[in-house]
Amino acid sequence: MIHQRDFIMKTIVIIGGNFSGFTTALELKRKLKNQARVIVVDKRDYFLFIPSLIWVPFGRRKVADIKVDSVQVFKKYGVEFVHQEVLSVDLQQQQVRLKEGFLGFDELVIASGPKVDFEVADGLREYAHYIGTPKGAEKMGEALEAFKNAPGPIVIGATQSAGCMGAAYEFLFNIEEWLRAQKIRKKVELYWITPEHYLGHFGIDGIPLGESMLKGFMKMFNIHYITEVGVEKMEQEKIYLTNGQQLDYKLAMLMPPFIGADYVRQSPDLKAAPNGFIPVKENYQHEDYDFVWAAGLAVNVKPPFKAGKVPFSVPKTGYPSDETGKIVAENIYRKLSGKGSFIKKPWGKIPALCVMDAGKKEVIIVANHLFKPRTFAVMIPNVFYDVFKVLFEKYFLWKTKNGYAHLP
Ligand SMILES: Cc1cc2nc3c(=O)[nH]c(=O)nc-3n(C[C@H](O)[C@H](O)[C@H](O)COP(=O)(O)OP(=O)(O)OC[C@H]3O[C@@H](n4cnc5c(N)ncnc54)[C@H](O)[C@@H]3O)c2cc1C
Repeated sequence: MIHQRDFIMKTIVIIGGNFSGFTTALELKRKLKNQARVIVVDKRDYFLFIPSLIWVPFGRRKVADIKVDSVQVFKKYGVEFVHQEVLSVDLQQQQVRLKEGFLGFDELVIASGPKVDFEVADGLREYAHYIGTPKGAEKMGEALEAFKNAPGPIVIGATQSAGCMGAAYEFLFNIEEWLRAQKIRKKVELYWITPEHYLGHFGIDGIPLGESMLKGFMKMFNIHYITEVGVEKMEQEKIYLTNGQQLDYKLAMLMPPFIGADYVRQSPDLKAAPNGFIPVKENYQHEDYDFVWAAGLAVNVKPPFKAGKVPFSVPKTGYPSDETGKIVAENIYRKLSGKGSFIKKPWGKIPALCVMDAGKKEVIIVANHLFKPRTFAVMIPNVFYDVFKVLFEKYFLWKTKNGYAHLP
């Protein structure tokens, strides 16, 4: 039995309202009802289904197709929304400093995802495309239109310290498929560059048969690949790699590393790891403060593998982001109600559940744990159509529009 007085005046502020923050907020409200204020603060006033951005450059999706009016969903379920940028956090005062004003909190959830570190190599910001934002994906689409009339070499990949290799692999196979559809494939040399020790490492030390499957794809689609390599610098139409090689290119799309949001690094109280992510215990509570929590990409996750010649990081994908949002909501609920012990599930023990699009083909990745040791791990190719990726998108957009954050 929960006593209403336990919750009176408790205010929970969640910074970030996309995958992990959206789930945390709606789950908290579902569990606590009117017994606590749940406030989401986000500089963006919509939910964005980021995994479908890879289709925007090819015109297969418009940005509007993958947006949800999350403010209306929050309103429907009684979650308050503040459309502002967070500038810093003061844990002594228990206040979030906004561009205009402050927000006080009893419990704070950091769900603000990443900042993209374009500074990892000179020239990256100026010369490489990045499809991880609506603007970046649309700009890539415009560049492809121009490219059709003057094709040349294309370089796709991930830089040193990157962790989101999966999205870059998806884009690689989508562009290969697009080149064939445009009937210009034979005019284009296609290169894949990656910091991974081997193809299909993905920052999780691979999945059985993954490397051989990807090698087979590279051979079948005539894609040149270089592993264990980083980007030294980029110039217009030339990339200098850390192994001394130089690649000429007409078009490049590279996945840089993700680091913590600016306000995290500007808030010494948060004691962020050097990469700007939040150090948490197995229950997603801050290592040093029991009223601070983190979910999703903002969580600091130590790589479970030895660094090779070129550093790279772990992927923090949508499924674990959603899962950690649920765990944080349940643990805050248990804390405030004084009930039971916390749920503990380290990042690496969350199941892996992911569909990697491969350009109207796909690979389904399922494992009982993201990190080794695992008792079950498979990669299932589907060469007929990317039906599961499309179904997953439709399901997730439906679930989000309806505020059914409790569903898997
Ligand atoms: C191109 C691409 C493709 C991907 N494809 C897949 C895929 O196929 N499958 C998969 O599982 N994962 C995929 N991912 C990863 C997936 O997008 C992330 O796991 C997920 O977005 C993480 O959710 P999050 O809520 O932690 O962070 P985000 O989704 O990044 O949300 C963070 C929120 O915080 C807000 N915010 C940040 N800073 C501030 C601030 N200072 N003040 C206020 N608000 C702030 C942002 O506006 C944003 O709304 C992909 C990622 C990329 C880039």
